[in-house]
Amino acid sequence: MKGNLKKLIIPAAVLASLGLAAVGFFAGRSLGRAPLLKERETLQALNRASIEKLPSNGETIHVIGHRSPDSDTVCSAIAYARLLTKLGYNAEAKITASVNHESAYILREAGVEMPPVLESAAGESIFLVDHSEYAQAAEDMEDAHIIGILDHHGVGSVTTGHMIVYEARPIGATATIVWLDYLNYGIELDKSTAYLLLGAVLSDTSNLTASTVTEADKIAVTELAKLAEVKDVNALYAALHAGLLSYEGMSDDEIFFSDYKEYEAYGVKFGIGIVNAIDIPTAEQLAERMKNALPDAFASREVELMYASIGMRENGEKIDYIVPCNEHSRQILADAFPDYDEFNGTAFIFKSGLGRKTKFVPGLTEFLGAYPHE
Ligand code: MN
Ligand code: MN
Repeated sequence: MKGNLKKLIIPAAVLASLGLAAVGFFAGRSLGRAPLLKERETLQALNRASIEKLPSNGETIHVIGHRSPDSDTVCSAIAYARLLTKLGYNAEAKITASVNHESAYILREAGVEMPPVLESAAGESIFLVDHSEYAQAAEDMEDAHIIGILDHHGVGSVTTGHMIVYEARPIGATATIVWLDYLNYGIELDKSTAYLLLGAVLSDTSNLTASTVTEADKIAVTELAKLAEVKDVNALYAALHAGLLSYEGMSDDEIFFSDYKEYEAYGVKFGIGIVNAIDIPTAEQLAERMKNALPDAFASREVELMYASIGMRENGEKIDYIVPCNEHSRQILADAFPDYDEFNGTAFIFKSGLGRKTKFVPGLTEFLGAYPHE
């Protein structure tokens, strides 16, 4: 991208966020010829005004991501709680369970303590980040007072009768949306918050290589790296990746549940756990370990189908090993994704990847819609 165009992107994103109503409001008024800076400040003030009635009733707003927290969930919750605090709200970041090795690294480097675990969401004011699905949410979320959702997934099962902030974008990371919100509300980003968001975007986009990456994610990384004073983004990603791959001292069960999510489609509940491998021998080893862990994991959850998805990258290509928990899950997988490259007796191998968000869940959902149920 040319330098000039790049400079224009941030004001353009700010303008785009305001929507047509405000454009109509200002058309033909005295602001028409105001300098860009003044106009930007006006838009930021309007964006701030648009969330001044967040229905928190003065209570603490718990900002929280999904179960099996990943870095996007943890860091977005902290950064967004800080944003709400700067906007005058009483907000605190929470998590559903202990963070993984990668998130622990980011928190340590950013000088941030691990947020407390929210044991029950019942009766609490909640702002959800990185999901909108009860099956993935903190305990008792059905009985919570949900006042906002910030997400980059499909619309989940969460519904409310009252007005909420609902901001979702088809983008690489929730953290990128948080960054956009800092711009849109005109709130300055400090070094520690920039580091948290940078780590989260790199993690969720696999260093900007995921198919979900947008130009906004790329510019977010460049701008956040400057603010966080990170000179070598690739080195940071390598360190994060090493942290993520480190399952040292974890049991098979803990590895399976470290990035596990549940879904529901056409009345069928299913669960998928993601495991990251460094190369083919490690992937095959982890596939065997997950095969042994799956029966107990399946018995412990109320789902009809369960899979472990062991992924690795080779020459930039994603390869996924999908291990079903039983014969029923195996049959459904083989029927839903007949284009797998190989079945090695334990895992179905997809040589061009079967990303959970981009292919696995959408494909399985579509298949279950056409699948006859009793
Ligand atoms: Mn996530
Ligand atoms: Mn995410």
